[in-house]
Amino acid sequence: MSDKFPEKLKFCYWGNPILREKAVKVENPESPETQEFIEKMRLILEEHDGLGLAANQVNCNRRVCLAAFPKEGEYPEMKVLINPVILEKSKKTVRREEGCLSFPGIYKDIDRPGKIKVKAYITGEGERIFEAEELLARIICHEVDHLNGVVFIDHLSYLSRSLLKKELKRIAEKKNIL
Ligand SMILES: [Zn+2]
Repeated sequence: MSDKFPEKLKFCYWGNPILREKAVKVENPESPETQEFIEKMRLILEEHDGLGLAANQVNCNRRVCLAAFPKEGEYPEMKVLINPVILEKSKKTVRREEGCLSFPGIYKDIDRPGKIKVKAYITGEGERIFEAEELLARIICHEVDHLNGVVFIDHLSYLSRSLLKKELKRIAEKKNIL
């Protein structure tokens, strides 16, 4: 089985139905097509200066995401997670302001687990199980949500979400112009 990746990546904002799609498994993580796609994602993430990016955000429904591993005093190290699964989440959550490249200008306090255990295929290493904490745990939870068709504002209360109605409408109408 071969994976299908778009030739040209298009950045998708809120309102684009692909953000609600559940992405499907990558069959050949080491194939040249997969690696080429990841390279394109990496360039887009750098261009947008973000901490993470999921394939749905660039119009592809495959389970690939990038997460910047923040390092003190250094540039973050970029990790590519293929077919990631969150195996465990700590009960203890941390509230912190979060944003998303697909929702420009919107930042909201979101509760996320402080610690998680993740399984993912890492290029060149194979399938790995590892733990992540704090900001990295937050980024991975955010990106894996994307791959499941979930976006960060889904974690808000009905009231805080309804207060964003106007802004969400603005993004959906202005940003998804082809
Ligand atoms: Zn996002």
